[in-house]
Amino acid sequence: MATSDTNTRPVFTTTNPATLAPGKSYPGHSAEDAANKARLAAEAQRPWRRTGIDERARHMKQAAAVLRSRRDELAALMTEEMGKTVTDGLAEVEKCATACEHFAARAASYLAREPVAIDGARAFVTFNPLGVVLAVMPWNFPFWQVFRFAAPALMAGNGGVLKHASNVPGCALAIESVFRDAGFPEHLFATALVPSAAVKALIEDGNIAAVTLTGSVPAGRSVATAAGAVLKKCVLELGGADAYLVLEDADLRAAAKVCAAARMVNAGQSCIAGKRFIVVREVRAAFEAALVEAMAAYEMGDPRDPHTRLGPLQSVAARDQIHAQVEASVRAGARLLLGGTLPAQAGAWYPPTVLADVRTGQPAHDEEVFGPVAAIIEAADEREAIAIANASEFGLGSGVLTSNLARGERIAADELDAGMSFVNDNVRSDPRMPFGGVKHSGFGRECAGFGIREFVNVKSVQVKA
Ligand code: NAP
Repeated sequence: MATSDTNTRPVFTTTNPATLAPGKSYPGHSAEDAANKARLAAEAQRPWRRTGIDERARHMKQAAAVLRSRRDELAALMTEEMGKTVTDGLAEVEKCATACEHFAARAASYLAREPVAIDGARAFVTFNPLGVVLAVMPWNFPFWQVFRFAAPALMAGNGGVLKHASNVPGCALAIESVFRDAGFPEHLFATALVPSAAVKALIEDGNIAAVTLTGSVPAGRSVATAAGAVLKKCVLELGGADAYLVLEDADLRAAAKVCAAARMVNAGQSCIAGKRFIVVREVRAAFEAALVEAMAAYEMGDPRDPHTRLGPLQSVAARDQIHAQVEASVRAGARLLLGGTLPAQAGAWYPPTVLADVRTGQPAHDEEVFGPVAAIIEAADEREAIAIANASEFGLGSGVLTSNLARGERIAADELDAGMSFVNDNVRSDPRMPFGGVKHSGFGRECAGFGIREFVNVKSVQVKA
């Protein structure tokens, strides 16, 4: 939470979501401090864009090594600031290291000049960096969200200024220190500890070339509006209401496990968490029982315990909002099959919850529920299931559960309006595959060659013989 002091420098004080104990206070940056960071990053980026890709890769591989050497400390920081289980935190640090290695190894081929056959000229397309990219990032994967932007952006020769979510200031500063310790030029990647109200001025700053935001639809709209006003490139990774279709030929126990894993990733606080489970009528009752069993296996526990699968949510306010969505859904006709009650203990706790008979007019159907709440929606058949899945303002991830792989592949590839569709597995981001959405889930892509090419100048060069 940020508060302002008399020098107009905010102070960011963290709260442990598991216990509500106050954490550390971090002095933040004024608008002027943030503008200075953008200026220094732009100065550092000018020579950086001329370094060879091998030199950049050397630093990026070192960033992976630094991450791994500090993994216990970084995972503990995530637990303290936003409640992530230590097991998930360690996996997240490892995933960031893998992404650094991926872009260190692959950036040269992703950004290699592309020759074009044109009579009488040598012609090619080249990919030059844009400059300094402002990254506005969320708390839910406090390291991964940043590294999946930063690793490709820095490898492409850009600089970065990070405005992280206000509840993870320690993570924000730790990320800056990882790049510094890895030997990247000073100021090339900087963290500005500022509130969201400071973002517009940074977008307008002449030293910022482009902006990427991962977060909610309102934040995306505000950033896109500010970027549009000054005609700067932006990439938006926004919310999701991911649908998983459970077809009549699915192995229901296996399907329920995939659906529970999809829903419970990061205690349900993921843009690509499965949120709507659309089940064909003839297997609906059997699937309900299987999903309740699979969801109940996620017992709440101390996030520092390596056996814990469900820790607290990020804040009591977020937990209360989820509970209100569940209660309103039940009032509007949803059937509560599991959970749905507030635990007595202090902290941002919410149990695994399953709602059936979810339909239009209920928050569990119409809104993004950002917690451990699975919504079961009945469909008459495959055709209706696809129609329900696509009748959403979002289009991020999606899944199909079926024993007929050809059928699953057809639906995933051709029918679902989403940036990602997986058959018989839960959607996960991967540095080798593009990540992003359609409709209100945003535009642009992260990861893979598509991601690294978002923040480059795709330049046509022609040399007449
Ligand atoms: P949020 O409120 O939008 O916050 C995300 C970031 O945007 C934070 O740094 C926040 O700063 C900043 N921000 C908020 N309002 C802003 C504004 N009007 N102008 C500029 N910056 C602003 O998101 P959240 O609710 O914490 O995170 C959950 C949302 O993110 C969910 O909808 C989830 O689906 C989405 N998400 C999407 C992806 C993806 O890849 N598609 C990944 C993860 C999460 P403060 O913290 O200072 O407010």
